[in-house]
Amino acid sequence: MIQKFKNANYNIVNFTEVADIYIVNTCTVTSISDRKSREILRRAKKINPKSIVVACGCYVQIAKEELEKIKEIDFVLGTNEKAFIVDYVEKYLNSKNYKIELQDVLYNSNYSDFGSVTYTEKTRAVIKIQDGCDRFCTYCIIPYARGKVRSRNPESILKEVHEIANKGLREIVLTGIHIASYGKDFSEKYGLIDLLEELNNIKGIERIRLRFN
Ligand code: SF4
Repeated sequence: MIQKFKNANYNIVNFTEVADIYIVNTCTVTSISDRKSREILRRAKKINPKSIVVACGCYVQIAKEELEKIKEIDFVLGTNEKAFIVDYVEKYLNSKNYKIELQDVLYNSNYSDFGSVTYTEKTRAVIKIQDGCDRFCTYCIIPYARGKVRSRNPESILKEVHEIANKGLREIVLTGIHIASYGKDFSEKYGLIDLLEELNNIKGIERIRLRFN
């Protein structure tokens, strides 16, 4: 999301600084993260009462009714809508009406593609390849917040990794909610191993890491 705002010529500042727009990417993995998400949203409005405070992410997806009661929030965005955050925020800036943009991820079968964002951690580029999980483990809320397995199109991933290799980065980290399920939702047989083989052939990429969220 940071890269999307940078591409649209916004200046990114630290969360504790005065800003015109605050984006809080909420978490709902425990009740503590729910509480912290609410606290941070309220804190943002305190830093600049004239700012626009946007709540997005997993807690929003699970508890939009709770968040609707928090007067400090101007705008609520679901997990699938994050890829289009700049468009939604600019639409809000023009209308200034309290707004909710949120799809029911449990019934959504489309991967929401951020495109090439080249998010880096030191010398590594982090590449999101997948979202959602179909396992529904009894103790876990993630499938309800992130929806079913949705895999990013391999062409989109390969394009981003080629761009990364051309920039001189040598290491990539593949990430997602349940990356072992990558490709499960494709009509043709194509899984994580097929993707890894193609990535392994890209000139310049020397190390590929796998990361589960
Ligand atoms: S994200 Fe992990 S713990 Fe949660 S339902 Fe899926 S497999 Fe189970």
